[in-house]
Amino acid sequence: MSANDQYIAVRQKVDQVCIQAGRDPKEVLLIGVSKTVGVPEVELAISAGAHDFGENRPELLEEKALALPHENWHMIGNIQSRAIPRIVEHACLIHSVYQERHILAIEKAAAARDKIQDILIEVNVSGEQSKGGCTSQEAAHLVAVALECPHVRPRGLMTMAPQGDSQVAYETFKGLSNLFRQIKAEMGENDKNAFNELSMGMSEDWPQAIAAGATMVRVGRAIFSDSFAE
Ligand SMILES: *Cc1c(COP(=O)(O)O)cnc(C)c1O
Repeated sequence: MSANDQYIAVRQKVDQVCIQAGRDPKEVLLIGVSKTVGVPEVELAISAGAHDFGENRPELLEEKALALPHENWHMIGNIQSRAIPRIVEHACLIHSVYQERHILAIEKAAAARDKIQDILIEVNVSGEQSKGGCTSQEAAHLVAVALECPHVRPRGLMTMAPQGDSQVAYETFKGLSNLFRQIKAEMGENDKNAFNELSMGMSEDWPQAIAAGATMVRVGRAIFSDSFAE
């Protein structure tokens, strides 16, 4: 299969899993993580109805966003300060924000472009050392910092689960979902209305993420690799 057929197959499965979980399929955005492929594969996915793509490197985000400017480009990778203007130029949503200084740099870059930049706070729920993200304790503070910035809009939380055990993945996602509800409960009415995204789940664990409340799943290999088998 190629990216168009694989995108359709994953989207159908996402819809089924939503229905099984008692959720409306329209509540879950399928983001095609295109970091390992080029523009032609992305175009195949577009022909199958995809319009949201995730990239983890600013150079590739920029390259593909310039080639396909009508699609929605999500920044999902590690952030370095000097890349922030470039990311803000192209990203509809930055999923991987977990440092106060990056929020302040995003504010500056977004103000210069007269843009309001949507962000998610990345939380390292599982505590694995290899993973990015703030602690659960720090998350509320970072959301508060973002709320103080007129050109930054915190839209929700993001996490990555440990690989290899679907029960552990489910518990990690549940942990993010509980934290999200706690933080949201403390927010003012206007801020609360915009704070509604949970970005969690990848090729191997997106069903657990949907069961735990994901509103965005980030799927790479299951769409773009011909060798991915579930
Ligand atoms: C690569 C990547 C994904 C997609 O992973 P797959 O296992 O290929 O689906 C999702 N999120 C982030 C942050 C990634 O870096």
